[in-house]
Amino acid sequence: MHISRRRFMITAASLASATLLSDESRADVTAVSETDPTAEALGYKRDATRVDKAKYPKYVAGQACVNCQLYQGKPGASTGPCPIYGGKLVDSRGWCSAYVKKN
Ligand code: SF4
Repeated sequence: MHISRRRFMITAASLASATLLSDESRADVTAVSETDPTAEALGYKRDATRVDKAKYPKYVAGQACVNCQLYQGKPGASTGPCPIYGGKLVDSRGWCSAYVKKN
């Protein structure tokens, strides 16, 4: 009985640290915030229709991360990594001034 309780405690502790580790690794792929300094400098918006058109006249309706060459999201995913932001997640409907039309 004593041994199985001890084994239970070890298993529980291992599970707890595995959970912590997975939470930490998930923290590496956080979403880009619009208030992130790089995002602010490049005018990133999670919703491309909210782009400041006066400040970014090169923005054309229909442009979005999902059709940007730099976007690395999987087809159909709502977010995907962008190398401009160190691989953080951008919204597939987002836009920033580093946009490059996908061919
Ligand atoms: Fe979106 Fe492209 Fe800007 Fe990255 S570089 S945030 S994919 S528009």
